[in-house]
Amino acid sequence: MTDPAAKLKTLDEALAQLMGYAVPLAASESVSTFDADRRVLARDVVSGLQVPPLDNSAMDGYALRCADVPSAGTVLPVSQRIPAGSTGTALAAGTAARIFTGAPVPEGADAVVMQEDCEPLDDGRIRVRAVPTPGQSIRRAGEDVALGTTVLARGTRLTPAALGMAASIGLAQLTVTRRPRVALFSTGDELVMPGEVPPAQMRPGAIYNSNRFFLRALLQRLGCEVSDLGIVPDRQDATVQALRTAAQHHDLVLTSGGVSVGEEDHVKPAVQALGRLELWQIAIKPGKPFAYGAIARDADAGADADGTACHFIGLPGNPVSSLVTFVLLVRPFLLQLQGATRIAPAVVHLPAAFEWKRADRRREFLRARRNADGALELFPNQSSGVLTSVAACDGLVDTPAGQPIAHGDTVRFLPFEDLWG
Ligand code: AMP
Ligand code: MG
Repeated sequence: MTDPAAKLKTLDEALAQLMGYAVPLAASESVSTFDADRRVLARDVVSGLQVPPLDNSAMDGYALRCADVPSAGTVLPVSQRIPAGSTGTALAAGTAARIFTGAPVPEGADAVVMQEDCEPLDDGRIRVRAVPTPGQSIRRAGEDVALGTTVLARGTRLTPAALGMAASIGLAQLTVTRRPRVALFSTGDELVMPGEVPPAQMRPGAIYNSNRFFLRALLQRLGCEVSDLGIVPDRQDATVQALRTAAQHHDLVLTSGGVSVGEEDHVKPAVQALGRLELWQIAIKPGKPFAYGAIARDADAGADADGTACHFIGLPGNPVSSLVTFVLLVRPFLLQLQGATRIAPAVVHLPAAFEWKRADRRREFLRARRNADGALELFPNQSSGVLTSVAACDGLVDTPAGQPIAHGDTVRFLPFEDLWG
C-alpha cells in the first residue's frame, strides 16, 4: 500500500455501502397529527371521504340557474340565504340564493355570481350585471380529494402541508415509524463545554465543543430521540463500558472526532472489541475519514431494540468535516432507518459567480452563498476547521474531482435548508 489514494472510496460507493446497512426500523407508533411534522409515515393515508364533501361556493355572491339569466341586467328575487356551515333548500325557479364562500350550492343552482357582479336593489331583489356560465364559481365535491384516494404514501416524510392534508380528511392521529434512538458522544481531551469555562479562562489548547451542538440539532430535526452522553471517557475500559451500555437501547451510536488515521483514540479499539469497525477514507473534501461499525447487543437488550447489533458511525472531528459528512451520509442513513422514500438531498443548478482553479483529486463540497443575482459566491476560507464558512453560507457546491470551475459555469448546489433535516 504505497499509494494512500488507492484506498479512497468515492462518496457514492460509501453511501451505497452505508445504505446497505440501514435496515428500516420495524416498529411504528401512532402520534397526534399536531406532533407528526418531519416524521415518516409507516402506512398509506387513504381518504374515507371526498373533499370538499359537497359542491360549494368559491365566492361570496348569489347562486342561481344560468337559464334564469338570459341577458345582462336580469333582475331576480332572493329566495334564501346560505352562510358557510349551513345547507339551504332546493332553489326555487326564477330566484337567486344569497351565498357565502364555502357554503353548499343549493340543489338546482348551476352557477354562483360573485357579489361584485350583482347590484342589490332597494326592494331586496338583485340585478345580475353579467351573463353567468354553468359551473362558474362552484368548487366541485371531491375536486381536492376523491373518496379512496391515497393522499399521502407510506414513506412520506411529513411536512406542514401534509399535516394539513391529513387533517382535511379527518385524521387526528398518524402512524409513523418510531423515532431512531441515537446516542451521541464527543471525543477529544481539548473539548470544553460552553458555559463550563468562560472564554477568558480557557486553558491553552482548549476549544469549545461545537460539534455536539449542531449534531444534536441535526439529529433532532431528523426525528431522532437523542441521548447526549457527553465526552467519551479517556480510559479504554471506561470507553468499552460506555459504548456497550449505549448500544443496548439505541439504534445508533454517533461519535465525532478520533477517526483520523493513526490517531491515539479509545473509540476505535472499543468498537472493534465490541463488534466490528470499518474505517473508510472517502474521496471528499472536507471530511475524508469516516467510520462505520456495529456494536453487538447483549442477549437481554430488550424487545425495543431492532436486530442484534447497534449501528456505530464515527464522524471526523473538524467541525466542517463533521457537519458535511453528517448531511451527506448520516442524514440519508437516518431517513432510510425511518423508511423514508425520498432520501437524496435536493439539488439546484445555479451559475457560479466565482472561479475555482484549485480542483482537488477529491470531490469537493465548497461553502457558498447566493448573491442578489441568484449566482453563487464562495466563502473565502474553505478550511475544514472554519465553521463560519457554513454559518455564513446557504449551501454546498458539489464540485467533481479534478474539475475547475469558471465564472458563469452552472454548478450543482445543495441548499442547507434542505440538508438541515
Ligand atoms: P480529530 O478528528 O479528533 O482529530 O479532530 C480534528 C479537529 O477537530 C481537531 O482540531 C479537534 O480539536 C477538532 N474537534 C474535534 N471534536 C470537536 C468538537 N466536538 N467540537 C469542535 N472541534 C472539535
Ligand atoms: Mg480528537
